[in-house]
Amino acid sequence: MIDPATFGRCNICGGTEFEAGFLGRLSTNGKKPSCVKCKSAERHRIIYDVYTHLRAFMKERRGLQFAPEGIFRPEWFKAFDFSAYGRHNSYDMMDIPLPEGAFDIVISNHVIEHVADDAKALGECLRVAGETGVVHVTAPSPSYRYTTQDWGFADPEKNEHYRDYGADMGRDLCRRTPGAHAVGVIGHDPATFATDTIFFFSRSEATLREIAQPLQRALFGCVVVA
Ligand SMILES: [Zn+2]
Repeated sequence: MIDPATFGRCNICGGTEFEAGFLGRLSTNGKKPSCVKCKSAERHRIIYDVYTHLRAFMKERRGLQFAPEGIFRPEWFKAFDFSAYGRHNSYDMMDIPLPEGAFDIVISNHVIEHVADDAKALGECLRVAGETGVVHVTAPSPSYRYTTQDWGFADPEKNEHYRDYGADMGRDLCRRTPGAHAVGVIGHDPATFATDTIFFFSRSEATLREIAQPLQRALFGCVVVA
């Protein structure tokens, strides 16, 4: 949400000092992206902001996160578990050993670009989230390219990513994943003003409306993708 009162401030820890990111990275508009105090980057603050407005939705749901990074707090959910490669559960996202509907929300933040078959992974997450569940997917900067480029292997030159997602990400994933619908939520980072898109996928259009309503009331851009 765009709130001038919070401009230049980290909405996670309240910090006001920022530095360049990994390898001197600056934000799209040249601002320093990394919070000195809590080390958050643009995407962390945007996700935190969006979920601030989804607390009522989350507290009735069981969450499962792939590769947690501290932004999603277990206390936001009715129950919470995670899969961390080689450490805890270590699920293969393309073949998750859990029954249909084991959770209500499955979260993957900067994970799916590391998975060989992203549609298969999304299908598995949707199965685990059940008929009325939801799957959060964020990936690096889909709004900054026109189309997804998939080179078919984990490229060590590109952080082991299989692809760069483009603006077609949500629609393309729905086209390749039976029964999937999606909304894209556009958030703004209060510190750098950078934008990012969070995709919520579900087999239930009613669930997506339930997510979009509080976000629209808080003036987030919510776009029906498919
Ligand atoms: Zn911070």
